Amino acid sequence: MAVKARQPDRFALAGDAEITDPVTGRVLLLGDVVREPLTGGVHTLANRQVIAADIIADKMRSGVKPAVKVALASGRWITATGQHPLLTPDGWRPIAEIEPGETIALAGRIPWPLLPVPLPAAEIDLLAVLLAEGGYTQLSVLFTTASPEILDLATQGAAELGMTVRQAGKYSYRLNGTGPDPAAAARGRGICWCGCGKPTLPSKSTWLAKGHRTGVPQRYAPGCKPLLLARQLLNRHGMGHESAHAKKIPPRIFQVPDQQLARFLAVFWMCDGYVDGSPGVTLASEQMVRQVQHLLLRFGIQSTVDPRHQGAHWRLRVPSPWWRRFLDAIPIWGAKRDRLEELVKQSRGGVSVIGLPTFTARLRRSLRTAWDPDGFGTRVAPYLYIARNARTGQGRAADVAARLGWIKFQFDRLFNKATNTICPAAFRAFCAVLGVTGHDWIWSPDIFWDRITSITPAGEQEVYGLQVEPSRNFVASGVIAGCPAL
Ligand SMILES: [Zn+2]
Repeated sequence: MAVKARQPDRFALAGDAEITDPVTGRVLLLGDVVREPLTGGVHTLANRQVIAADIIADKMRSGVKPAVKVALASGRWITATGQHPLLTPDGWRPIAEIEPGETIALAGRIPWPLLPVPLPAAEIDLLAVLLAEGGYTQLSVLFTTASPEILDLATQGAAELGMTVRQAGKYSYRLNGTGPDPAAAARGRGICWCGCGKPTLPSKSTWLAKGHRTGVPQRYAPGCKPLLLARQLLNRHGMGHESAHAKKIPPRIFQVPDQQLARFLAVFWMCDGYVDGSPGVTLASEQMVRQVQHLLLRFGIQSTVDPRHQGAHWRLRVPSPWWRRFLDAIPIWGAKRDRLEELVKQSRGGVSVIGLPTFTARLRRSLRTAWDPDGFGTRVAPYLYIARNARTGQGRAADVAARLGWIKFQFDRLFNKATNTICPAAFRAFCAVLGVTGHDWIWSPDIFWDRITSITPAGEQEVYGLQVEPSRNFVASGVIAGCPAL
C-alpha cells in the first residue's frame, strides 16, 4: 500500500514508545530520542527480512493529536495516531483500517548492542539476586533465599566485591562491608567519597605522608560516612530503595554482551522464576516484568505479559514454540532445568497459534484466485470441472497434498478455522505448487505476528515521528511502525 506523503505528521507515535539504542542496547523513550540530538540510531525491519540497526534520517515533533492505544495479545501496546501505518500480512495499513483480532508484525528478535560493555561477573550475579530477592534501603542491603545454591552464589559474588554475607533471619541475609566508593576515591579528594557527589570541606589538619597539612579537602562531605559497599553497588546502578512494585532492571544490564545477559536472566530465574506449565515469572513491578520481556527478545524468545490480581502482580510466560530456545539460551540449572527439558520433550509436534499471522480477507482473495480463477468452485457441471481442473489450483490439490505428505488437500486447510490463523506448512506448499509469490516475507524469522486485542481512544497526546530510509520503518515498543515517505 502506498504511503501518502502529503500528511507526514499524521504518522506519529506517543512519546512513551520505547526505542532501543542499537549501539548501547539501552532503552530510550521516543520523546527523548526526538528531543536529544545525539541519539541517532534505531532498529528497523530491513527488506521485510531482518531486524537491523539503521540511522535516523530525521526526527519530527508532530504536536498534540488524538491518539489510539493498540493493545496486543503479548501484553505489549503502542499508542499512535489513527493514520499511523502498521505492518499486517497484507502489507502496510493505517491503524484506523485494522480491526481487533487481526495480527500485526512485531520484532521477532532485538539485535545485540553494537558496542556491548561487560560488567564484572560477580556484579551480574549479585544484581540478579538483589533485583529478584533483595530488599534495600540506604542503611542495609538484604536478600532472602531458601536456596543454598543462591546463597553460595551471592556469598561468592559478594566476596569478590569485598563484601561479606551475614545471616539476618531464617531466610534473610545482609550484605556487610563498608569502604570508599572506588570510583569516587579514584577521582581524588574534593568530592565526597561516599559517591553522593557533594563537595567536601577543607580539613583543619590532615596527616599526609610528609606530615600534617592544612586546607586539604576531607574525604567525606559533612554528614557522610563510608557507605556500605552493597549500597555503593546499587547507587552505581541507579537503584534507590524502591518497593517491590517500583523495582527496575538497571540500564547497565541492557548493555552487557549475550553471555552475561544469559547468566543474569538465569540467576534471576533461579531466584524468582519458575518452570511449571511453561517457564514464567511473576513480579510486583510491571516495569521490571516488561524489561524481562524485552531482554528475552535479545535471544529471540517471545513471551506474554498479563496482570494478575488487578495489577498487583504481573505474570510473564514463555509460550511453547520458544521453550527450546529458552532452554538453549538461558543456562538455568537444577530442577527448573530438568522440568523445562521435560516440557520440551513433551511439546514436540505440539501446535501453537501464538505468533502466526491471521488469514486476512485480502490474502484469502489472492490465494482463492490462484485456486479457482473462474470463481466457479465446484458448482459447475462435473465434466466442465474436470476439464478445467487440469489448469487450475484445484487440479493441483494432489500436488499440494503430496508436498505436505497429506492424503488430500482442500483450500480451507490453509488456515485454522477457530483462530483464523494461517497454517504455515500448508500456506508454503500451496504458494510453491501454484506459483503464488510475494508472500514469503510473512515467514521471516525476525517477524512475530501479534494479535490485536483492542484499539481504544487514548485522548490527545504529544506525538513524534522518525524518518528511517530506505527501510521506512522502525521498531517502537517491539512493534514495527511505519514511517512517512521523505
Ligand atoms: Zn557523601
